[in-house]
Amino acid sequence: MNSMLQLDKAPHRRWNPLRREWVLVSPQRTDRPWQGQLEKTAPPKRPQYDPQCYLCPGNSRAGGHVNPQYTSTFVFDNDYAALLPSTPSGGCDDSSLLVARAERGICRVICFSPRHDLTISNMELADLTRVVAMWSDQYRELGAVDWIRHVEIFENRGEMMGASNPHPHCQVWANETVPNDPVREEHAQLDFLTTTGKCLLCEYLKLELTSGERIVCANQSFTVVVPFWAVWPFEVLVLANEHVTAIDQLDGKRQQDLADILKRITSRYDNLFEVPFPYSMGFHQRPTDGNGHREWHLHAHFFPPLLRSATVRKFMVGYEMLAGPQRDITPETAAERLRTSPETALKS
Ligand SMILES: [Zn+2]
Ligand SMILES: [Zn+2]
Ligand SMILES: [Zn+2]
Repeated sequence: MNSMLQLDKAPHRRWNPLRREWVLVSPQRTDRPWQGQLEKTAPPKRPQYDPQCYLCPGNSRAGGHVNPQYTSTFVFDNDYAALLPSTPSGGCDDSSLLVARAERGICRVICFSPRHDLTISNMELADLTRVVAMWSDQYRELGAVDWIRHVEIFENRGEMMGASNPHPHCQVWANETVPNDPVREEHAQLDFLTTTGKCLLCEYLKLELTSGERIVCANQSFTVVVPFWAVWPFEVLVLANEHVTAIDQLDGKRQQDLADILKRITSRYDNLFEVPFPYSMGFHQRPTDGNGHREWHLHAHFFPPLLRSATVRKFMVGYEMLAGPQRDITPETAAERLRTSPETALKS
């Protein structure tokens, strides 16, 4: 790389090889005067059981469903599903300009725990490992449906990210087609494999391990890194250390390692601004269309919106809506901040 460019001082663009787009980085702007507030907000105290919560054990949901008295994880078909398995096929195409296709799918909700007040960061490791096992089972079960070609497992945490309920849960959307972002990443990984004979993310992980600059934490099976091309201030990528294409290839030990690394990164997040840290996270992995997809490398993205404090968030507006993503604090600085943030669960 050209050493004339000072990545910590001069405005520059960084290449995101997974999405194949540029990210503008403006490190000099972190010097600018900031007049916003920096107050801490006390984490809201939540009860272990909330009679109003539609995810707590024994409570009623929409359409007259009643949750069982579950004691571990609990999965059910979303009462307000964005996709339905029974949608009839059909579509339209007018001059390649007005194009639509019917889309079938199955949407589920997975409760991580019967406890309303817990989060990934403060769940017991054994309980969180059961959640990982449930993700693997759901990926397998939904992926085995002959018309389902992609399974997206994701969690929205915090009101700031639009989560409608604080009860610890995630969603699984299984589609007839592979959605936009995984398609982009698939093309990038497949092209890289075709031209170099190597896996894009295996090679990327090697570079990160060599420099160490952007590594946040790691265990035997997973590494957390602030990607070189991160857009969100404290965005991280959770990478499988070995080349596995999807979560169904993790054995019991690796499932536990995944639970461990998720608990550790979310604890670091919570401690950063001493607040339950909002984020959207989710997995990217092999589509379930029956092909081997050697190019796919299992990973999870965390996209948290917070920038300077519990209340100051980044907005994707202006230049970002109209031109392209931009950030001020460098990924290296963000990694350093996360490295010094403790891994002990935040006391509420
Ligand atoms: Zn609840
Ligand atoms: Zn790989
Ligand atoms: Zn991805």
